[in-house]
Amino acid sequence: MNPPVLPGHPHIAYQGADLYLEGVRLADLASHFGTPLFVYSQAAMLAALSAYQRGFAGRDAQICYAMKANSSLAVLQLFAHQGCGFDIVSGGELERVLAAGGNPATVIFSGVGKTRAEMRRALDAGIGCFNVESEAELDVLNEVALAAGQRANISIRVNPDVDAKTHPYISTGLKDNKFGIPHDRAVAAYRHAAGLGGLRVAGIDCHIGSQITEAGPYLDAVDRILDLVEAIEAQGIAIRHLDFGGGLGIDYHGDIPPAADALWAQLLGRIDARGFGRRRLMIEPGRSLVGNAGVCLTQVLYLKPGEHKNFCVVDAAMNDLPRPAMYQAFHQIVPLATRAAAPATYDVVGPVCESGDWIGHDRSLAVQAGDLLAVLSAGAYCMSMSSNYNSRPRAAELLVDGTRVHVIRERETVADVFRHERLLAY
Ligand SMILES: *Cc1c(COP(=O)(O)O)cnc(C)c1O
Repeated sequence: MNPPVLPGHPHIAYQGADLYLEGVRLADLASHFGTPLFVYSQAAMLAALSAYQRGFAGRDAQICYAMKANSSLAVLQLFAHQGCGFDIVSGGELERVLAAGGNPATVIFSGVGKTRAEMRRALDAGIGCFNVESEAELDVLNEVALAAGQRANISIRVNPDVDAKTHPYISTGLKDNKFGIPHDRAVAAYRHAAGLGGLRVAGIDCHIGSQITEAGPYLDAVDRILDLVEAIEAQGIAIRHLDFGGGLGIDYHGDIPPAADALWAQLLGRIDARGFGRRRLMIEPGRSLVGNAGVCLTQVLYLKPGEHKNFCVVDAAMNDLPRPAMYQAFHQIVPLATRAAAPATYDVVGPVCESGDWIGHDRSLAVQAGDLLAVLSAGAYCMSMSSNYNSRPRAAELLVDGTRVHVIRERETVADVFRHERLLAY
């Protein structure tokens, strides 16, 4: 019998009956470190990054990892070490970059709701650029920069009004969406910015959505942005860098996104044809750098057969893996050791007291209580979105490099969960 293949997950494979990530048997990690447990492949992260680096070879380009996908310090350290910059969306994320030894000059600050305190801290730290998302934010940033005696580099996030053809909650490039400045307001916003003494116009940016699996929406966005650059520069305002955001999808379940290098060969063809190939280029990939590098290991607690449905209750839940509850997202679920038994169909659910606490519906599994499972594609938007709901301590995280295992986050204790709470003085 051929070992089952896991498409899109080249760093995870069965050897005999056992599932390995790089050179490590995952069942050994689960028994040593407990479950739920996140395990990441360093080689998978580096391979994902090098696909982008190949795509931009010979170009003036900066890859800014959109760290909200997975903001664990060691992951940031790994990317910083490879020359990555960072796309941040909060003051907390800036502190993480600094704590991980990232270079603040490579940081770009996105997000619709930056506070004055966050702006001031980012200016003092010397970040590379603010991606401004509204005209009101231009004025506030101008005030903060003038008060600090500084000039803030800005790029305006323009909403190119293209349909990324993805889930409505992760589509960000359409008109009626809270992100960015509408395409038809962009030239006026740049004229306004150019007249503010606390700001220096540096570039333009867009980000059209997430889990995008075709090149078409990107090609549309490139054309819409380059049209605008021509219109803005016709007003005498120079646009030094072009930032095309992130959003490239991964293979969760038979999705076939373009490879990062192939996508960029196509986009750079368009950018070159329009005469912008020598500009400084920036991108903000998140999910595609880390998503398929990670798995979440979980143990089967109970099998609960029913009249219409069988439930497989596991020890990971929506607080660890929020994507199914939030977006009806699909994660593959596979056993750490295959069994030569007939499979049954289960809803895989966690212990949290919510009907939305499910991890997979109608999955065919040959399992018994005590068995270990791997939830795949758990490297992005899982740990970084995790919570303590139901007073569940957050899982531990490991980074695997060949046969070496690094603990990059210790498992929380229940005492950690209520450390900052105070009792009343009865
Ligand atoms: C979330 C986000 C990204 C990254 O999106 P992915 O789909 O994870 O690649 C990039 N830029 C901005 C502004 C974002 O908010």
